[in-house]
Amino acid sequence: MSNQILKVVDYIINFLLQDNRHLAGKVGYTADIDEYHKYSVIIYPSGFFDSQQYGKQSSIPALPLQKIENTELLFGEPQIEYIKGKMVVKADIIASSFFLMSRYEEFVCKDYRDIHKRYEGVSSLQYRAGFIDHPIVDEYGKLLIKWLQQAGETVQQSKQGFRAIYLTHDVDSIGFYQNFRGVLGGLYRAILGRNGSVSNILQSIIDVRKDPAYNFRWLIDRDNEVTSAEKIFFVKALKKSKGFDLPHYNIEGKALKRLFQLFRTTSSRIGLHSSYQSFGDNKQIAIEQKFLAQATDETINLHRSHYLTILPPDKAHYYVKAGITDDFTIAFASVSGFRLGTCHAVNWINPKTLEIEPILLHPLTLMDCTLSNSNYMGLGYDEAFDYAQQLINQVKSHNGELVLLWHNTSFGDTDDNYHTKLYKAILELIK
Ligand SMILES: [Zn+2]
Repeated sequence: MSNQILKVVDYIINFLLQDNRHLAGKVGYTADIDEYHKYSVIIYPSGFFDSQQYGKQSSIPALPLQKIENTELLFGEPQIEYIKGKMVVKADIIASSFFLMSRYEEFVCKDYRDIHKRYEGVSSLQYRAGFIDHPIVDEYGKLLIKWLQQAGETVQQSKQGFRAIYLTHDVDSIGFYQNFRGVLGGLYRAILGRNGSVSNILQSIIDVRKDPAYNFRWLIDRDNEVTSAEKIFFVKALKKSKGFDLPHYNIEGKALKRLFQLFRTTSSRIGLHSSYQSFGDNKQIAIEQKFLAQATDETINLHRSHYLTILPPDKAHYYVKAGITDDFTIAFASVSGFRLGTCHAVNWINPKTLEIEPILLHPLTLMDCTLSNSNYMGLGYDEAFDYAQQLINQVKSHNGELVLLWHNTSFGDTDDNYHTKLYKAILELIK
């Protein structure tokens, strides 16, 4: 195995062990019997990394998958053998983890993109094989720790509860009625008697703070109920917007200055919400980061892309160059679950170069519109709550990070609004 493969294997073993990293040296990844005496548990390589198939479509596992103790296995055989008194696991949990953690499938399969050129959740192996709703990499981690214990090692029992909670909000717009189209739609609905009143709309035009979507203070107060949580607002930083980046707001204007001040005084962090257009013009990311840093006079190193259009797995360098250290984009827009197979923060691994990039990916657990939008999961309120609860329980049981994304524009001004109710119920669940 090349040095770069060995580095990645070492990274994955440490990652799987989480709080038992001190045992990393006891885990081998080798087919060489002469090396077995060095280790307590040996994972037998399936040949995934050395194979002529690496990087080719034929390396994507065929369905149905085998299982090792109830967890889907992507590579190797679900068997354990004892050779020279050593436990040799034929299930290649290293390659299986790598496949998910590096977004290998998205790198290899150039098709399966939706209208926004995002990899389609329903085309992913996670979805097709039916494990999108549980983090199988974290399950491998638990298995590995169990095997080490069986081999006589003293292990630390895994913790329960959230390792971290991030309550995040993408500021796509600071109000419903701050542009011509919004006002027109609002007036139309108000006149038909469906929603809102003409006088409220007029007041919002005069003072954005009266706009029902300018609910940041309310949102921060809700988030503060979860005392251990970190609050992050992702802000767009374009000088001019068009197409899917509309509506535009000016981050150098008075309204945004006031908003930044609110974030500062409430210990809410500001991250870059990189634009839709930067997905096609990657150099734009650094320009936007610089503009936001100037406008806020803060270091901007947190990131999420608009429409969750994260760059392909071999393009981390555009974020690294822009000074991004932590990304919160990774989820499929169309289906909630564990796109990276884990609920722990993981370094971006480039499947092309096998480089471990200096940028941490914090898997996005739940996004508001994924649950509710009819072109995504389209769940009714009760179903959405049940599904959200199921994912949250998974994160809790693996001591993972919970990352929620609710847009300020998702909340209505009445308590029976779908997302107002759902968000409050979820906060109640986790606080
Ligand atoms: Zn957005």
